[in-house]
Amino acid sequence: MNISMSAEDEAFRQEVRAWFRSEYPQAIIAKLANGQTLTKTDLVAGEQAMSAKGWLAPGWPKDYGGAGWSVTRRFIFDEELENAGAPNVSPMGLLYVAPVIYTFGTQAQKDRWLGDILASRTFWAQGYSEPEAGSDLASLRMRAERDGDHYVVSGEKIWTSDAHYADWIFCLVRTSDEPKKQAGITFLCIDMTTPGVAVKPIITIDGGHHLNRVVFDQVRVPMENRIGEEGLGWTYARHLLNHERTSYAHVAAKRRQVASLKEISRAAPWGDLLGEAGGAFRRKLAEVEITLTSLEFTTLRALAPLASGEAPGDESSIIKIAATEAAQAVTELYLELAGPYAQPFFADRYGPDWRAGLETIPAFAAPGTASYFFTRAQTIYGGATEVQKNIIARQLGI
Ligand SMILES: Cc1cc2nc3c(=O)[nH]c(=O)nc-3n(C[C@H](O)[C@H](O)[C@H](O)COP(=O)(O)OP(=O)(O)OC[C@H]3O[C@@H](n4cnc5c(N)ncnc54)[C@H](O)[C@@H]3O)c2cc1C
Repeated sequence: MNISMSAEDEAFRQEVRAWFRSEYPQAIIAKLANGQTLTKTDLVAGEQAMSAKGWLAPGWPKDYGGAGWSVTRRFIFDEELENAGAPNVSPMGLLYVAPVIYTFGTQAQKDRWLGDILASRTFWAQGYSEPEAGSDLASLRMRAERDGDHYVVSGEKIWTSDAHYADWIFCLVRTSDEPKKQAGITFLCIDMTTPGVAVKPIITIDGGHHLNRVVFDQVRVPMENRIGEEGLGWTYARHLLNHERTSYAHVAAKRRQVASLKEISRAAPWGDLLGEAGGAFRRKLAEVEITLTSLEFTTLRALAPLASGEAPGDESSIIKIAATEAAQAVTELYLELAGPYAQPFFADRYGPDWRAGLETIPAFAAPGTASYFFTRAQTIYGGATEVQKNIIARQLGI
């Protein structure tokens, strides 16, 4: 694999950088920098700007609207997006379900869904987990019974990210009770406006509303919304999970956090932690930087098969572990710097002027603490760390 940057790649980097500075909606970047959560309107505005440029789905095959970039260019693009302080795209439609649709869907399904995802006209949610089916996903119980040319779906999904924004949800449902649990699972796409779908918020430890419970009560779903064959949903789900896990690296965003940590720690309330007094802190920062460099190379290695049209393999489990542990290590440093000011705090409750009246509290403390709390979830979602370790062990024949 050749990952060296050619002069053309460098020119591409400059083009992307300039575009994010001049064409991308700057209000979104400013809102994020101020510790606020983006609304659906913000997310759509950002994604539609990228879509108009043809940059929203660089990883898709060119025939479906992808950019046809090399692995290196895709990496550069992600780096520049994060360096600009822009949000990552909402992954459920663009990164998770779209590859399933263009790989296993019918032409009618591709025509129906891909264009709207590519133009950011529709948002999707991922309906996999259930109250007693997380790591052991194959135990899922949400049922779909055939009734003429429809399925009737009843059950519950939980921890569903951004379901309150979603127009569609892709779900794993049980269509039969086979001795091997995986065999009775089917992949269904469900319109969130269908009667019988109810979204119930779950507020997380950082104070934010990212997650939901989605309850399905006798929801009628046309058979044409089924991806692939009945009972083969598990195969499509696995394909998706490998795509999902390579999307976790976010090295540039973490480097940006490290840069901000260095800046903050020079003027920390308790003295210059990058100076003589901060030996232990400097060591932790250095450890994080080393981890990020190795994560960068591992990600490029795992993405290499995409260049020849293959799906990423089980190596994506390594990225999932390394990236999420690095994310936690970075946010722990914010907490360490904030010291007694590290209190749970959700900036959105107080509006854009949340800093007013809190001048004695270092500005980074509140958003840093909120991100510390939310980052705890990273080693759980998308397949918990222990489960990723099991996958790696199996690969190694242990
Ligand atoms: C912030 C957040 C966002 C999420 N978003 C979504 C979403 O959009 N859509 C969706 O479908 N799901 C989503 N999830 C759910 C997520 O995928 C599950 O939480 C995850 O799969 C773990 O399942 P669980 O919570 O049921 O924990 P459990 O599976 O009960 O695990 C509990 C503990 O046991 C360990 N464990 C379990 N099995 C094993 C094993 N075989 N070997 C060793 N250790 C084991 C786990 O590692 C964990 O530490 C989200 C979760 C979070 C926290």
